[in-house]
Amino acid sequence: MDMNPSFAFPRTLVMILALAATLAAILAACAEAPYTGRQQLMLVGDDQASEMGNQAAQEVLTKEPVVTGTPQAQMVQRVGQRIAAVTESQYKWQFHLVGKDVPNAFALPGGHVFVYEGLFKYARTEPQLAAVIGHEIAHVLARHGSERMSVAAATQLGTGIAGSTLGLSPTVMEAFGIAANYGVVMPYSRTQESESDRIGIILMAKAGYPPEASIELWQNMMQAPGDKPPAFLSTHPSDQQRIANIRKHLAEAQKYYQPAR
Ligand SMILES: [Zn+2]
Repeated sequence: MDMNPSFAFPRTLVMILALAATLAAILAACAEAPYTGRQQLMLVGDDQASEMGNQAAQEVLTKEPVVTGTPQAQMVQRVGQRIAAVTESQYKWQFHLVGKDVPNAFALPGGHVFVYEGLFKYARTEPQLAAVIGHEIAHVLARHGSERMSVAAATQLGTGIAGSTLGLSPTVMEAFGIAANYGVVMPYSRTQESESDRIGIILMAKAGYPPEASIELWQNMMQAPGDKPPAFLSTHPSDQQRIANIRKHLAEAQKYYQPAR
């Protein structure tokens, strides 16, 4: 440990300046989530995230048994396209049904949405499926994947600056590399989950599905036999919390409701 006081001050100053520069860069890289107006840290470009998401989607498509032509597969397409149409976004939305008996659904940056056959045990009506797909589309629309990677990168960067004063030299690229590794698989935060529920019911309402169906869906989940939560819920808020949050935003969503023509 260098105890020479004449060097202690400049080193601290360098560290403070580096942190200030990082903070300035972070503050300059903000985005606003659609509908909610929540401020988001966005250090990852949308094109970059979409490219990563599309690559991951290709990998999923080679590994998972995709089902086409069945009534359920057609419903996924129909509901997906109907909701995609009201997003007014540039994403190339693509919807896939995976032939596995697990209650799972996820979306990737760029617009690939995957629904698993096992989900139909809980999403028993078309509006209930719309609640699932609306929620997944909301994750993409609000750029939650990029936000996750940005937060991870900023955390790494902060650690890096602290580390460099200790003689370590992690780079920004390493920070992004680490974030990128986790980008696709890291669970969404609770904030993002609640936000996707809120945006999701707005989207389904705009597409002509009654947003109350979202509550039905989560009630079905709550009554699910067994104590193991469905896979895509494991990092999610509890069903009770979730239903309470959806109820809170139901009136807002109903303002967007357009009966299907
Ligand atoms: Zn989610």
